[in-house]
This record gives sequence, structure tokens and C-alpha cells, in this order.
Amino acid sequence: MTERTNDLRLSIVVPVYNEAENIAALYGKIDTVVKASLKLSYEIIFVDDGSDDGTFEILKTLHDKDNHVKVIRFRRNYGQSAALAAGFDISRGDVIVTMDGDLQNDPGDIPVLLQRLEEGFDIVSGWRKCRKDTLITRKIPSHIANFIISTVTGVKLHDYGCTLKAYRRNTVKNIHLYGELHRFIPALASLNGARIVEIPVAHHPRRHGVAKYGISRTLRVLLDLFTVEFLLRFSTRPMQIFGLFGLITGFTGFCIASYLTYLKLFRGAELAGRPLMLLAILLIVVGVQFIAMGLIGELIIRIYYESHDRKIYCIRDFLD
Ligand code: UDP
Ligand code: MG
Repeated sequence: MTERTNDLRLSIVVPVYNEAENIAALYGKIDTVVKASLKLSYEIIFVDDGSDDGTFEILKTLHDKDNHVKVIRFRRNYGQSAALAAGFDISRGDVIVTMDGDLQNDPGDIPVLLQRLEEGFDIVSGWRKCRKDTLITRKIPSHIANFIISTVTGVKLHDYGCTLKAYRRNTVKNIHLYGELHRFIPALASLNGARIVEIPVAHHPRRHGVAKYGISRTLRVLLDLFTVEFLLRFSTRPMQIFGLFGLITGFTGFCIASYLTYLKLFRGAELAGRPLMLLAILLIVVGVQFIAMGLIGELIIRIYYESHDRKIYCIRDFLD
């Protein structure tokens, strides 16, 4: 991420994929809000995620007439996480606000988000309390997903999917987004001890263009949850989880094998036709593999942290 080179305070990052009909109106709203209610220097970064509906041409016009506007254009569609990551990378503000480019989020909420940040929070997350989306394909799956995510990650938010969020720059600096991980930024940031607060924000129905995701997103998000949960709990100690699995399976296998050995030696039982025998062998082999995976994991994290001089901790204050 480029280091700050001037006194830029606010970067607004908007990922857009085929939002030609929405961009001009969105830009207008953002412009009004930043000029009217915020007296700070700002930049608006649009990330065109491989649109083919003329989105880029409209962005180019905006860029030509307003030097606060920056535009990144991807060569193809990489997805919203990649678009946000690109925006974070080139942004220079102390504070980064992300929002959707389809006018479903309201730029009018930005001042309140910033106000909460000023109070000392690291992430202020929008909560679409009155969400204007379809019930069956969006709201219900998302309620279930939100419930699961907040239970599993322990970061209690009502709405993980809301792109409208404000971040202090250093909270997102070290977060790498893969897959659909953008909705887990608060959870990932909690790994570094980020202070997170949620505030209700406005939400509007989509008037132009089409929604880019279907119901399959819920599944992908849940799969990403495994990754996040693993990162949150075991990224610096993989042996502790794989080793545990290995011990459990290996020990169960060992017990069964001992029992069968006893039957064979003292009862003269025939073992060839016993499925239990196969189970015992399987459990022992799997147990050994889990432990080996844990060891490989331990090597990998050492490479990850030591080769880049990364720290496994994150300091908030240091009084020397
Ligand atoms: N988006 C993107 N790349 C994609 C899909 C979506 O940049 O591959 C953008 C899209 O243009 C919009 C935002 O991400 O600005 C959210 O997309 P959408 O409104 O379809 O999703 P939802 O509102 O259901 O979260
Ligand atoms: Mg939308």
C-alpha cells in the first residue's frame, strides 16, 4: 500500500461492475456530501471490475472533470473483494470508506460513519436495518449467514454484507482479501484487535442495473467462513488443531487395533473378514497424516512470518 504523501484525510472506494446507469448519480451524491458536510481533503476511487457496459467511459469523463476522482480499470472481472483490495492499495487517506456503486448505499451516511471513527473506533460498519432487497433470495439467506458468522467468529455484527463501512487506514493495511473475504474484514481485523462498532444506515432498492450475485453466494460465503475461522484461531499454531485431530483419530485407531490384537492373540479370532480392522488402519493412517499436516503447517507459518518479517502481534500503544 502506498504510504501517505500529503494530508489527504478521506478515501472513498467504490467497486463497480456494469453500473453505467448508476455512476453519475452516485458521484453527484458523494460530491454533494463531501463538499457540504465534510471539510476535509478527499479522493473518490472507482474500481471498474471489468465492466463491459460503458462504465469505464463514464468514469473517465468524471475523472477528466474532477481531480478528486481516481479510476482503476481491471482487465477482467475479478470480483468485489479484488476490486476493494485494489482500491485500498492505491488509496492514500487516513480513513477509508467503502460503498457499493449501485446507489443501494447512501453517501449521506458517510459523515456519521466518520464521526464514530473519531470517537476512537477502528472500523464503523453499516447495518442495513431496513434492507431493500428480495426476501427469499437475499434477506433470509443473509440473516442466516450473519447469524452463523457472528456466532462462529465472535465478532458480533448484524450485517456483514453491507459494503458501506469506514476504516482507519492501519486496520486494513495488513489485511489481504482472497475469495469473498471482503465481508470478513471486520472479523479479520479483530485478529489485530480492531475496535469495531455497527451503526444503522439507509438502504435503497436497486433501481438500475442488475444484482451481481445469486443465492450461490451464501454457500461461498460460508466456505470462506472456514478459512476465516481457521485464520482467526489457528493461523499461528496450526499444529494445535491438526495435532488434536491427529491424536483423536490416531488414538481411536490404536484402541481398536489393540482390541483386535487381543482378540487374535488370546481368543484366536480371525481378523481377515472384520471391517473394524480396516477402520483401525484407516484411523491410524489418517491420524499420522493430520499430525504431518500440522507439522507442515508449522513450517509454512514460519516461512510466512519470518520471510517477510511479519509479526504475530499487533501493538496499539507503546510508551517508551
Ligand atoms: N461488484 C463488483 N464486482 C463483481 C460484483 C459486484 O465490483 O464481480 C460491485 C457492484 O458493481 C456493486 C457492488 O459490488 O457496486 C455490490 O454488488 P451488488 O449490488 O450486485 O450486490 P449486493 O447489493 O447484493 O450485495
Ligand atoms: Mg447492491
